Amino acid sequence: MAQTQEKLTAAEVADLFPAATPRSNINHYWPYVQTALEEEGIGDPAMVLLALATIRAESEGFEPIDEHLSAWNTEPGGHPYGLYDDRHDLGNRGAGDGEAFRGRGFVQLTGRDNYARYGQQLGVDLLERPDLANDPEVAAHLLARFLKEHEAPLRQALSSNNLLAARQLVNGGQHGLDRFSDTIQRGRPTTVADTRRLCDTGTIAGLSSQVLERMESHGALVAIDHPLIHIEGAHTTPWLQAEAASDLIAAVEERSEPLIINSALRTPMQQHLIRQQAQRRECGIQAAAPPPFSNHNSGLAIDIQDSGDWRPYLERHGWQWLGAWDPMHFDYTAGGEDLGSAQVLAFQQLWNEHNPKAPLIEDGIWGPATAAAVERSPAAGFPEKA
Ligand SMILES: [Zn+2]
Repeated sequence: MAQTQEKLTAAEVADLFPAATPRSNINHYWPYVQTALEEEGIGDPAMVLLALATIRAESEGFEPIDEHLSAWNTEPGGHPYGLYDDRHDLGNRGAGDGEAFRGRGFVQLTGRDNYARYGQQLGVDLLERPDLANDPEVAAHLLARFLKEHEAPLRQALSSNNLLAARQLVNGGQHGLDRFSDTIQRGRPTTVADTRRLCDTGTIAGLSSQVLERMESHGALVAIDHPLIHIEGAHTTPWLQAEAASDLIAAVEERSEPLIINSALRTPMQQHLIRQQAQRRECGIQAAAPPPFSNHNSGLAIDIQDSGDWRPYLERHGWQWLGAWDPMHFDYTAGGEDLGSAQVLAFQQLWNEHNPKAPLIEDGIWGPATAAAVERSPAAGFPEKA
């Protein structure tokens, strides 16, 4: 999916680094890193944050550097990096290799094998010129390649908040884990507004489930748990109104094939994000109704994959294809009630409970004050009261 995203400025990057990191280094090196991440196809906010956390763990000065001399690599009074000379696991072949292929760059590329392998991938002769691993452009691409190679497990580790696993994927151990974790915490979105550029409404799942739990008509909604029905993104099970859900299951069982759902019930807060993304042409969103007027806000709509193949089955069971301008979308037209304003009311009540000094009118109407409150709400949900 084509994604247009705002780029992080050097000032925003500096917020993730402690004052001790020279700002001039961030100004100078960040553009190289940003370009390399984009060229590797990992320029999205989650991977950018992982890259910055990795830099801070490995080279906090935000500068590609030589590995420091230490007892790990050099014997007292011995040749620099001599302890690496015979590291056959790194491909080193004896005297001189330890020094020539010492750790360099943002991620400390080390050893003859790694210099050969990554040099070939980047089209740079790092065996002949190992010092080029500290060149800004080469160092940035080495970092991007490292991350790209572990992209899937890194994303998984980040979304499940397993920062130790994320660190180990790149480092092998947990060197710099405290700096790595601190950077991730600083860079994580905290309010709904912060999540807009992440292109994933799952990031406000915490707030969304608090609103759903409060709804008086919550009983009308059911979570679909069926072996043939899968939701893309895996943040939550798909929720729909009960009748719509049972008719969907009937259609799936008639066809007996797996159905992939991209979106089912949305909260008005999620609809608000998607609406903004559509208006800004971000995140590949073409069109979205304003909250709470989408049938998604009532649990009476789905967006699915392979909609053409599914259409005859769904239409036999109360689900209507919307049309070619939004080809993934089906509406349930055989019953159900409008839950949009009930969801807005549940948000307003939740907000008022936690913000008694700046209350919203509890009218179930989505207006500018409610929208502004949503933007300021914590993406993970309001803290539980003791
Ligand atoms: Zn839709």
